[in-house]
Amino acid sequence: MNNLRTVAVIGGGISGLSTAYALHEKAAAAGIPIRCTVVDAALSWGGKIVTNRIGNLVTEAGPDSFLSQKTAAIELCTKLGLTDQLINTNETTKRACVFSQGRLRELPEGLVVISPNQLGPFLRSGLLSWAGLARMGLDLAMPVKRSSGDESLACFFRRRMGRQAFERMLEPLMAGIYGGDAEQMSIQATFPRFVELEQQYGSVIRGMMAGRKASPLATSIGPKRTMFVSLKNGLSDLIDALVRRLTEQGTTLKGGTVVDALRVRSHQPGRWMYDIILNDGSALSVDSLVLATPAYVSAELVRPLTPIAGGLLDLIPYASTATIAMAYPRAAVAGAAEGFGFVVPRAEGRDLIAATWTSLKWSHRAPADQLLIRCYVGGVGREAIFELDDRALVARVRDELAHICGVTAEPDYVEVNRWMKAMPQYTLGHLDRLNQTEAALSRYGGLVLTGTGYRGVGIPDCIRDGAVAADRVVRYLSGERS
Ligand SMILES: Cc1cc2nc3c(=O)[nH]c(=O)nc-3n(C[C@H](O)[C@H](O)[C@H](O)COP(=O)(O)OP(=O)(O)OC[C@H]3O[C@@H](n4cnc5c(N)ncnc54)[C@H](O)[C@@H]3O)c2cc1C
Repeated sequence: MNNLRTVAVIGGGISGLSTAYALHEKAAAAGIPIRCTVVDAALSWGGKIVTNRIGNLVTEAGPDSFLSQKTAAIELCTKLGLTDQLINTNETTKRACVFSQGRLRELPEGLVVISPNQLGPFLRSGLLSWAGLARMGLDLAMPVKRSSGDESLACFFRRRMGRQAFERMLEPLMAGIYGGDAEQMSIQATFPRFVELEQQYGSVIRGMMAGRKASPLATSIGPKRTMFVSLKNGLSDLIDALVRRLTEQGTTLKGGTVVDALRVRSHQPGRWMYDIILNDGSALSVDSLVLATPAYVSAELVRPLTPIAGGLLDLIPYASTATIAMAYPRAAVAGAAEGFGFVVPRAEGRDLIAATWTSLKWSHRAPADQLLIRCYVGGVGREAIFELDDRALVARVRDELAHICGVTAEPDYVEVNRWMKAMPQYTLGHLDRLNQTEAALSRYGGLVLTGTGYRGVGIPDCIRDGAVAADRVVRYLSGERS
């Protein structure tokens, strides 16, 4: 077939694999025959998605769930025949806490604190003082910011809701997702919805209440999903299903292969050919390629083509983090662990960022006589903890658990997963820099960036962005400049 077009996807995390899947769908729909190769440095597929199954325990080294409201991940699961594997959180234990001023206090669900059915427990928890609550309520009356410039997450929420609500409630929830420092993170790149709510409703709280009223209609279609969902046997099942489907579709999966460099092989008007230089010295020649690697890897790959894009990609910092899973005899921690877990505000100055009572939050994670928990450490400005070896790190985490919630028992099982340079930071001006990067790359036809470093860090964001990347490739191959 002489009109067969070749495409390479570099990076076999969820971004790269879902891009390859979408490429097949979209190229078939456009009638463009393609041959696709996915290349990954690691021997196993899935990047940050790693499920470990040890005896009857199911632990997640990286992500453990995804947001259901962003539908891309559920839709992909459905296409891959995984619908019956999707699980909700256990609603009977639904309750999250924040460690503030020396004790655990209940957090309002979904941050909709001014809803009558949630105000009671929230007020009793003493998380905010009356002055703090009153300041937060000022959001309902305060004028809207008129300038359209970017603002840090911290500035936005301190301005709208006051310092106390920000430090004790919002910062640990939001900054925790990114392992980031809210003073540096861009509100427009991380939580643009809150900017929209301010602009549309004149108040974040009013906007959230309006969204709440509207949501029952939106969720009445299909099975009811909780805010976060997972897969019964762990998220690696999504990766395994993707790999199986890609193999059936004829995609070549080249694992254990590092891409060392990119070169332009030839260029005629509207048609580029690229050479992808692999670590075994061979080269893969393709018509189009998608870089689904971390931004700092993509920076090195594109730098020889466009130093400007390389330099801009270097400006996306990555934070390091670690998850520590521990299983306890259930009886030994009875009473200490309740609900889904807790978060710890940065202002508390502790080493622990958060802990999830994994087997209370999810079914199918541990046998009934064990409790599986997962702790998070690290993040921007808290990376000194990685100087500890695993034994010392676990001892530090156990001290934190003893201090925060009185868990002093000896765990039956411990697992440490270090994620160095794993969490991209969307700092102030991120979206502007991204636009400039895209502009610098735009002269290279068929070269597209995707991945967690750019337009959303969650699994559904990666899948949605992968589909957009696939669309751009197919448009390019069909002759439309992307
Ligand atoms: C601890 C932790 C917890 C998280 N929890 C959640 C959660 O609960 N829910 C959620 O939605 N998200 C969560 N996330 C975020 C989510 O896991 C990531 O955003 C997502 O998995 C990133 O996917 P990716 O494919 O973009 O990148 P990656 O998974 O990093 O994949 C990139 C791939 O590129 C490959 N690569 C790198 N360099 C090269 C090279 N030169 N040549 C070839 N291959 C290369 C790597 O081997 C890797 O496989 C979490 C992240 C972490 C670290």
